[in-house]
Amino acid sequence: MIDMAEELNPFKIAQQQLDKAAEVMKLDRQAHQILREPMRTLVLNIPVKMSSGKTQVFTGFRVQYNHARGPTKGGIRFHPQENLDTVKALSAWMTWKCSLADVPFGGAKGGIICDTKLMNERDIELLSRAYIRALGTYIGPDKDIPAPDVYTTPQIMAWMMDEYSNIVRHDAFSTITGKPVEVWGSEGRKDSTAMGGLFVMREAAKMLKINLKNAKIVVQGAGNAGMYAYTLSKKLFGAKVVAISDSKGAIYDPKGLDEKKLMEAKASGNVQKYKGAEKLTNEQLLELKCDILIPAAIENQVRADNADKINTKLLLELANGPVTPEANDILHEKGVLDLPDFLVNSGGVIGSYFEWVQNLSAYYWTTEDFYNKLDTIITKSFRDTMAMRKSYSDKGVKISPRTAAYIIAVDRVAKAMKARGWY
Ligand code: GLU
Repeated sequence: MIDMAEELNPFKIAQQQLDKAAEVMKLDRQAHQILREPMRTLVLNIPVKMSSGKTQVFTGFRVQYNHARGPTKGGIRFHPQENLDTVKALSAWMTWKCSLADVPFGGAKGGIICDTKLMNERDIELLSRAYIRALGTYIGPDKDIPAPDVYTTPQIMAWMMDEYSNIVRHDAFSTITGKPVEVWGSEGRKDSTAMGGLFVMREAAKMLKINLKNAKIVVQGAGNAGMYAYTLSKKLFGAKVVAISDSKGAIYDPKGLDEKKLMEAKASGNVQKYKGAEKLTNEQLLELKCDILIPAAIENQVRADNADKINTKLLLELANGPVTPEANDILHEKGVLDLPDFLVNSGGVIGSYFEWVQNLSAYYWTTEDFYNKLDTIITKSFRDTMAMRKSYSDKGVKISPRTAAYIIAVDRVAKAMKARGWY
């Protein structure tokens, strides 16, 4: 049951998190005021003449939160429950994500209210192209660069890039990242969110003295990030994922889940089709005793009403916004190391940065180079975050890894705004 008193509006949560960091770091009041709201909010009314011949009108959003450090950057979600406040929150988190990783982007996010499970491929293409036409030149390689997110794919990115290229009358590969490799996407981009998260997992495990070979890992979500977290945990560290879930439910085998059987169940659209594992609900999965818990689905999964039942040493937020501020405090009190989303899942946008750089320069690196550079950047972000937390604890101020990461990210954006003369 959800605690009614708890704030679950993602944008209010994003503002609360910023306010907390602003207080600790004594952020300039004017900078704080600018950073509490997005710079530009676009709400789009998108008519699409569907393959049936009937016109359907969709609502789309694009929020460009802050561009002090560079063109805004962030994914596009296709979701039946999409709403403006969620997109605003996600665009704020993209701002902090790009800043913490120290890549030259601001933050943005987009979304369309739609259910792709009920649409055919042709209609998804028509909608994707219509969304880009509605945005027109509000996006572009040096303005705002979209990417995939929940229920959007490399194929959708290719259609969107093609549509934008039609508008500007030249091939604009660098305007969208997360594309298929055939149109100059990067080989490493598809698993870079999970890969980055696992580099952070490696560093945190070292710090907490968790031996990854014997560790029990639980993953919530079997989308792009969750599935790659599963396969890469085994491949990179020989680690055992004992449970995984999708929107329909979860499966658990203390001996570890078999890859072939899981892939088959996933391909059928329901992980519970896996034979020989215990079936659990998503709530039960989150409460399993484990060493590492990886929420890789959607927002507000660990809340005030279940945080106390979380039984892990390390919580890696691979989804955006999976832990509420109240839950974050409870976990912190319990001694769980809860590493924030905009650190843990920044591998996605770091990979996008590499794709954009390669598209702009038309010079392509090896996949090995891509992963090595990703490792360097995200490992530094982790260490910077831990060092910031320590610098406050040395002064007798206890802060969470999230607040430490906020302080680094917000300070960089505030300094860029100051240098540009915005306050
Ligand atoms: N959608 C991903 C995220 O939330 C990636 C964004 C991007 O690559 O621009 O971080």
